Amino acid sequence: MEYRVEKWNSQTMTTMEKLGILADAAKYDVSCTSSGVDRKGDGTGIGNTAAGGICHSFSADGRCISLLKVLLTNECIYDCKYCLNRRSNDVPRAAFSPEELCELTMQFYRRNYIEGLFLSSGILGSPDLTMEMLYRTVLLLRTRHRFQGYIHVKAIPGASKELVYRTGLLADRMSVNLELPTAEGLKRLAPNKPRKNILTPMRLIQNGITENQNEIVRYRNAPRFVPAGQSTQMIIGATPETDYQIMTVAEKLYQNFGLKRVFYSAFIQVNEDKELPALPGGPPLLREHRLYQADFLLRFYGFEAGELLSEQKPNFNMLLDPKCDWALRHLELFPVEINRADYELLLRIPGIGVKSAQRIVRARRNASLTFENLKKIGVVLKRALYFITCNGRMMYPTKLDEDYITRNLLNVKEKLPFPTDGMTYRQLSLFDDKNFYEDAELHSWKAAERDEGKAAEAGKRQQQTVLEGVWRDAGEMLVV
Ligand code: SF4
Repeated sequence: MEYRVEKWNSQTMTTMEKLGILADAAKYDVSCTSSGVDRKGDGTGIGNTAAGGICHSFSADGRCISLLKVLLTNECIYDCKYCLNRRSNDVPRAAFSPEELCELTMQFYRRNYIEGLFLSSGILGSPDLTMEMLYRTVLLLRTRHRFQGYIHVKAIPGASKELVYRTGLLADRMSVNLELPTAEGLKRLAPNKPRKNILTPMRLIQNGITENQNEIVRYRNAPRFVPAGQSTQMIIGATPETDYQIMTVAEKLYQNFGLKRVFYSAFIQVNEDKELPALPGGPPLLREHRLYQADFLLRFYGFEAGELLSEQKPNFNMLLDPKCDWALRHLELFPVEINRADYELLLRIPGIGVKSAQRIVRARRNASLTFENLKKIGVVLKRALYFITCNGRMMYPTKLDEDYITRNLLNVKEKLPFPTDGMTYRQLSLFDDKNFYEDAELHSWKAAERDEGKAAEAGKRQQQTVLEGVWRDAGEMLVV
């Protein structure tokens, strides 16, 4: 270990250069929650979500916190086909020493840029060596620097149980990326990461959390083990699994490993490889969005994967959200009387979320609810109106017919978390925005040039027409 750290410490790169490389290399990991924010400061106020390597996450009490999202190193001994940092790619490499990364985190924290750290890494030398360096970084932060902010660390598949456990005693959250939904997919695209090596640390963290919860009951001051729980990430669209397979895997992860979140990351083609699919339409963002919607239905709405999809209908409808799609296939359950339906059934009505359902249950104790009341409560009536009655009456005379409701629901504009103009969403960084904006500028400049060209052409044509007209008139005058 010393040899490798020495080697990297002796590099001539500045911390800023390393940060540029390693924050950029971390941006494809979405398992730290909302990393897709792209609002830029407009110069009239204060704040900018685009700072290099800083992403946002949500703490257990719902606060939005900024994290320094960075890799310890983008050096890697593995060759996962979908990964930019794979061994066979010729990309600039860098590594922080644990001391250097601690210093950087503390400096950022003191300047109020961040409230925590999201730390991941490529595999440097061996899984144990990498895990040891991650552990050392977190240990130094917690002990030498007495850092009490939020820390999310990756557990490295194949690393020793002891190291993972010790890291868990210092971190707030840990995650092990499942990478691909099935073992076959992993074998094809990440042959160095057998599924067993991923599930073992996941199980270890789960057991650690359960034991710790029991310990805390007995000894109030017992050290906490991964108090914010564990999460994972799956890449969507790199292998041919259906949505049904993906949702079934996610459901099993929630049930059997007690995960807090499963993140779905639309496959982005960063490498040319015959094993990777060509995605001419860009990353499957709409599919990713549908999977997130379905994931919420599993976690908060009491749905099961088998209710949303099946072997016969293995993929989500891209035009409708999974809840509307489910409701349309179960019209026999509707319309539901809002003043009598139980909480579980209310949750299944399109346009009614968890908060609205709770408010309905509370409010109807005092008086029977009308459509006006539902609107005030926060029910999205333009979706719900086909599926509910208030005091036995529908909002408008409506046919309970699948085609009719589908047509009307398609007219309700859905708010998507990404633009529909073909631009994919991404985590911005201080370091590559210059190129991005240069590209964008070049693009708009070329477009302007094209438009100018077209305008000039049109101008010439118009001039020609006018001239022809003049000549024709002149000719006619001469003939006359
Ligand atoms: S182990 Fe991680 S960093 Fe290394 S190639 Fe695979 S995905 Fe990339």
